[in-house]
This record gives sequence, C-alpha cells and structure tokens, in this order.
Amino acid sequence: MKVITAVKRVVDYNVKVRVKSDHSGVDIGNVKMSMNPFDEIATEAATRLKEAGQASEVIAVSCGVAQSQETLRTALAIGADRGVLVETDAELQPLAVAKLLKAVIAKEQPQLVILGKQAIDDDAGQTGQLLAALLDWPQATFASHIEIEGSTATVTREVDGGLEVIALPLPAIITTDLRLNEPRYVTLPSIMKAKKKPLETATPDSLGVDPSPRLKTLKVVEPAARKAGVTVPDVAALVEKLKHDAKVI
Ligand code: AMP
Repeated sequence: MKVITAVKRVVDYNVKVRVKSDHSGVDIGNVKMSMNPFDEIATEAATRLKEAGQASEVIAVSCGVAQSQETLRTALAIGADRGVLVETDAELQPLAVAKLLKAVIAKEQPQLVILGKQAIDDDAGQTGQLLAALLDWPQATFASHIEIEGSTATVTREVDGGLEVIALPLPAIITTDLRLNEPRYVTLPSIMKAKKKPLETATPDSLGVDPSPRLKTLKVVEPAARKAGVTVPDVAALVEKLKHDAKVI
C-alpha cells in the first residue's frame, strides 16, 4: 500500500503574525516557517503504517514556493521515503491544492492519502474534502485513530458529540486530528539521512493544472484589541455589574 501525505509550509505556530499595512494579508517576511502541525501528524501516521509493515512506501507532497523543500525534508526525516514538490510562487487556495494533489495521485496511484484537518495559516479546512470530491473517493475527516485491514480503513473520528467510528474502502482520504498521534522528535541522524532521500519537483504546468485563485481577499485586519478587565471587590459587586453594566443576567 502506497501512502501519500500532504505537507504544507506555514508560519510557525509560535510566531505572532502581523497584518501588512496595506491590509492585503499577513507579513511572512523574515518569520520562522515550519511544517503545518497537522501534517506532521499525517506524516507520523503514514510512517507508523510503514513501520507496522502495512504501507510499502510513504510519499510526502508539498505545493508552494521552492523553500517548501525544507518542509519536505522534515517529512523525510520523520520517515517518508521520498518527496514531491509542486513548485509555484502563485497564491494557492485549497481548490488549487486539491487539483494539484489529484494530479500527483493520478501518477503515483496511492491507496491512502493523509492530509491535515486544516492548515494553521488560513484555517480553511477544505483541501481534504475537496480532494475526496474531485477523486470521488471516500473520506474520513478529523481522524483520531486509524486501522487498516486488507482493503478497509477503520477510522475513529472526533465529532462534536464524541467519537464516531467509520469503515471505508480504500483508496480513501483521511484528515488528521490532534489526538491521532504525537509526532516523533526528529533526530540529527534522521535529518542527515533525509538529505539523501529522493525529492522530485513538478510544476502546476507539468501537471496540467491551472492553480489560479478563485477567491479574492478583500481585506485582512488584526482582531479587535480586548478591553482591559476590571477587578470587583466581591460577588455582590460582580452580580451588580453583570446585571446593570453588562446586562447579561
Ligand atoms: P486547508 O484546507 O488549507 O486548511 O489544509 C488542509 C490540509 O491540506 C493541510 O493540513 C495539508 O495536509 C493539505 N494542504 C493544504 N495546502 C497545502 C499545500 N500547499 N501543500 C501541501 N499540502 C497542503
């Protein structure tokens, strides 16, 4: 079973991003970039399937600027066997990424594709679902447990009311939730080993995909600053404030 994982280069989760002065987006110049955390979980899940003898090969795919190679190298250090970079400087929206992944999937013929449930930069949470629709494959989103037996994946999903277990025939799409696993710490030897693993590059053109954005960003603004809080002397004063000032009780 070949497994593809989709890995996106995003602003590191520790960075506090700033909105550009022209409100066209956030400033990502000179900020630390990392692999989207949910994609680390996806790559860890695929690697564990390989280590358990259930996957024959794990291929990490990233779409974006040339520096996404670093993200792919991290995926290779976690345990992916090879990487594919679909290189473009164009702004990529979820539909474009789904089309690019579909084209790579047509070439690679994997039985399982694991994506993150969302990328922490745009918080779209759309790519896995769009990809499943484009391929007409079954999908299990927000996975917290995956079991593969023969040509069936049994996936536990994190839903509002608790956990839902579904079985889906392969090939299928799975998107990862936080509790699926804890990605391994990438060691120096694995980083060194990853440098020797194959990394191939394609372009949207070579895959026959038009990645042009379909949505236009009108304006990006900082969230409104929170007002300072007030300290009240006792419960009676709190109730009074909630009743008369805030009018919530
Ligand atoms: P999104 O729909 O943008 O929130 O992203 C959901 C998931 O799709 C991510 O966690 C990745 O697994 C995958 N994905 C999104 N954008 C890219 C990209 N540019 N390259 C590779 N994978 C991506």
